[in-house]
Amino acid sequence: MAQRFPLLPFLVLCLCSSASIIGIAHQHEDSTTQTMEDFSGYPIHDHHSFIQNFASSSLSVDTESLQNQIDELATFSDTPAPSVTRILYTEKDVLARRYIKNLMGISGLSVREDAVGNIFGRWDGYEPNLPAVATGSHIDAIPYSGKYDGVVGVLGAIEAINSLKRSGFKPRRSLEIILFTSEEPTRFGIGCLGSRLLAGSEVLVKALQTTVDGQNKSFLDAARAAGYAKDQDDLSSVFLRKGSYSAFVELHIEQGPILEEEDISIGIVTAIAAPASIKVEFEGNGGHAGAVLMPNRNDAGLAAAELALAVEKHVLESGSIDTVGTVGILELHPGAINSIPSKSHLEIDTRDIDEQRRNNVIEKIYQSAIKIEKDRRVRLSEFKIVNQDPPALSDKSITEAMEAASKELNLPHKLMISRAYHDSLFMARVSPMGMIFIPCYKGYSHKPEEYASHQDIANGVKVLALTLAKLSLN
Ligand SMILES: [Zn+2]
Repeated sequence: MAQRFPLLPFLVLCLCSSASIIGIAHQHEDSTTQTMEDFSGYPIHDHHSFIQNFASSSLSVDTESLQNQIDELATFSDTPAPSVTRILYTEKDVLARRYIKNLMGISGLSVREDAVGNIFGRWDGYEPNLPAVATGSHIDAIPYSGKYDGVVGVLGAIEAINSLKRSGFKPRRSLEIILFTSEEPTRFGIGCLGSRLLAGSEVLVKALQTTVDGQNKSFLDAARAAGYAKDQDDLSSVFLRKGSYSAFVELHIEQGPILEEEDISIGIVTAIAAPASIKVEFEGNGGHAGAVLMPNRNDAGLAAAELALAVEKHVLESGSIDTVGTVGILELHPGAINSIPSKSHLEIDTRDIDEQRRNNVIEKIYQSAIKIEKDRRVRLSEFKIVNQDPPALSDKSITEAMEAASKELNLPHKLMISRAYHDSLFMARVSPMGMIFIPCYKGYSHKPEEYASHQDIANGVKVLALTLAKLSLN
């Protein structure tokens, strides 16, 4: 016995270092557990200590490869660099999809696609029948935009998986990366098309049978040209089975200035604001700008102007900083300096994290439109609520996992609200959801100047990897 004592410190040392590499940081009396663990090669219980050892020592991000991939993906564009334009089902979109599928394959993921081209790359866990943990984002890009929006959450997810694989981690629940089809509404006017369908939107399935783009090409023809929707007009095959995922986490650039201004590495999204959009048209008699005297006019342009101001008033009346409203489109017909507008067209966007409050604003805007119609003797020829989506709250178990991951990685983080919408808004309908934001230069997005630093991306990828690992073991 005495002879064995000097060996003890050495043994302890070995145990510690192997714990940090393969995660065996605990000992169990229970022989069944031990047998199962020996068999599987990783702990069944005590995931917490596993994760702690694992976090502090083994996560590395290959920032150079990741940046090269971001740069390369940006070359699949219909406009010259540094701008990126990648529209749904165009040749460049199809090539970019192929590029992502190839990377997923290189990472050892099994890749499949659904009827609209949502792409899934799966890493099987050691309990593959449990609901999986999913992550992902989009790679479509509006005209003349940048190369980070969405892309960081797709290429970053692949790198997060690579990082977990390099660390020796083995997921319990399968991990799945999703590339969502058409987050941007550019071509067919429908934002988050892929995730809305995954979430089971019957309304959208029906609409897509007759949806056309600006060139009058049907959605189904465009999808078929890109190799999807083969012989089905009914796309409800895309719907996710209930309980497919135990969690969904999206990594995304903030698209706002807060994190950069406050020098915070990680934003943990607690809620995604509920977007709604409205189209309004007023019609009047028009007439000559000189000949028709003021008392005799019913100016459709002034009706639109008055409604635009009413939008601002009703939004401010909500009393909450979280209520916003924008008239982003205001068109006058015939649009001549010497002609009283005979027709006006407005498009109104309003959002809030509180659905009822947002709906109250919509109702007040409607009441104002009716009052303006009467007062100005114009005709309110259209008041159409194009979409009126509910907000989404992040799941507490996921925000806690993201917070814990940020803490373990010593990254300054804060809770925040996503005022832009994302595929996560719709994934929240079928899975507990959470989002990780990273800073981006001056908050720029949807323009070529969009930029996120290597360090910020690497931080986001690490938090994502560690969060996925935690959720996978839950
Ligand atoms: Zn995006």
